[in-house]
Amino acid sequence: MEHHPVVISGAGPVGLVAALSLAQKGVNVVVLESEDHIPQDLRAGTFHPPTVEMLDTLGIGDTLRARAIRVPEWQVRDRKDGLVAQFDLSLIADLTPYPFRLHVEQHKLSAIVAEALRGHNNVRMLFAHQCTGYEQDADGVTVTYTGRDGTGEIRASYLIGADGARSIVRKTMGTEFEGFTWPERFLVFATRYDLREQGYTGNAYIADPDEWSAIFIQPHDGPPPIWRIAFPITPDMDEADVLAPDFVQGKIKGFLSPDLDYDIPYKSVYRVHQRVAKDFRDRRVFLAGDAAHVNNPLGGMGLNSGIHDAMNLTGKLAEVLLHGAADSTLDRYHRQRRTVNVEYVQAITIRNKRLLEERDPQVRRERLDELRQTVADRQAHRQYLINSSMLASIKRANEIQ
Ligand SMILES: Cc1cc2nc3c(=O)[nH]c(=O)nc-3n(C[C@H](O)[C@H](O)[C@H](O)COP(=O)(O)OP(=O)(O)OC[C@H]3O[C@@H](n4cnc5c(N)ncnc54)[C@H](O)[C@@H]3O)c2cc1C
Repeated sequence: MEHHPVVISGAGPVGLVAALSLAQKGVNVVVLESEDHIPQDLRAGTFHPPTVEMLDTLGIGDTLRARAIRVPEWQVRDRKDGLVAQFDLSLIADLTPYPFRLHVEQHKLSAIVAEALRGHNNVRMLFAHQCTGYEQDADGVTVTYTGRDGTGEIRASYLIGADGARSIVRKTMGTEFEGFTWPERFLVFATRYDLREQGYTGNAYIADPDEWSAIFIQPHDGPPPIWRIAFPITPDMDEADVLAPDFVQGKIKGFLSPDLDYDIPYKSVYRVHQRVAKDFRDRRVFLAGDAAHVNNPLGGMGLNSGIHDAMNLTGKLAEVLLHGAADSTLDRYHRQRRTVNVEYVQAITIRNKRLLEERDPQVRRERLDELRQTVADRQAHRQYLINSSMLASIKRANEIQ
C-alpha cells in the first residue's frame, strides 16, 4: 500500500530495531541520527530471554548470540558475608529457549541491525541529521531536521521518537517525564581481572549500605572478556576527581584485593533517573525506549524494555498502514507498554536499588533472608526468575486490551 514513510528519530538500538522490524514488514522508513555514525559507547549489555526471542523473529538472534556470553546464573551477595542467593535460569527452561542472560555490548546489537538494514531498499538512514521537531495534522507528520546541508523537512505517516532520554520528540510533544532523579551518580568502570576467580558468576549485585555495587561480564574485543563494575558516587563529589586513576584504582582495590594493581580499560560517571513519559502517543507521534522511560541499570531492564516497545509498536503500525487496522489499535501501544514499564521496570529496578543500599541492619537482614528463602523454594525461585527475566512483563502487556 502507498504510504509516506515512518520517520524514526534516533539510531540507537531501539530506533534501529524498530526500523528493521518495519522494513521487514514492508513499511517505508527514514531514520534520522544526529551523530555521523552509530554510537559506540559502553552502555547496556544484558539481554533477557524474551528480548532474545524477539531478535530471533528479526533473523538476527543467531548473530547476536555468537558474539555474546551466556550467563545462566546470577548472584546477590553481601559485601561482608559473601553469597546470599544464586539464581539459576535453567529453572525456567520450559518457558524460553534461552534460559540465560545474554551479555553483549548494545553497540554490537546496533551494528548487527545496521548490517541487516543494508539489505532493505525501503529504509533510508540519514546520519548527521538531527531531528529538531515536528508538526502534525490529520493526514501526517512534518518532521524537521538539521543536516550537513542545512535544514529540511520530511513528510511522514508516523513519527517514532527513539531519540534517547533527552528526546526532542518528547519535548515537542510536551508530555511530562514523570518520576525522579537519584541524588547519587553511578561510577562505571571495567577491568580484565577475572572475577570468577573470586566466586562470582557473570552477573552479581552486591549489597552494602555505603558501597553497594553491580558487576557484569562483557565480551569486549575478547577473549579475555571485561568485567564492568558500577558503584554509587555521592552528589558532592566532583566528576574529574571520581575519574582520577587513583580514585578508581582505590575503589577496585577495596572491592577485590589491595595487593593487586588492576587494568581499567574503561570508566565513566553517569546520572540515573526513574522516569516515565505520561503519554507514549500523541496522535501520529510515538515515544519508545529511553525517550519514553528511563531507569537505573540494576536488573538490566532499560534497553530490554525499549526493544519490547519497538517490537510492540512496529507490529501495530504495520497493521494500520498496510492492512487497514483501526487507528485505535495504536492506543493499545500506550496502554500496554506504559503500564508494564511502571508496574515492572520501574518497580523492580527501584526495589533492586533499595535492597542493595539498605542502611537499617534489621531491614537489611530480613530482605536478604527473604532472598535466601526464595532460592531455596523451587516455585518461589521460578517466580522470581519469571519477573526478573521480563517474561512476566510481556505476559502482562499481552493481557492489556
Ligand atoms: C552507563 C549506562 C549503562 C547502562 N546499562 C544498562 C544495562 O546494563 N542494561 C540495560 O538494559 N540498560 C542499560 N542502560 C540503558 C540503555 O543504555 C538505554 O536504555 C538504551 O541505550 C536505550 O536505547 P535507545 O535506543 O532508546 O536510546 P539511546 O541509546 O540513547 O539512543 C538514542 C539515539 O538517538 C540519537 N539522537 C538523540 N537526539 C536526536 C535527535 N534530536 N535527532 C536524531 N537523533 C538523535 C542519539 O545520538 C542516539 O543514537 C545503561 C545506560 C547507561 C547510560
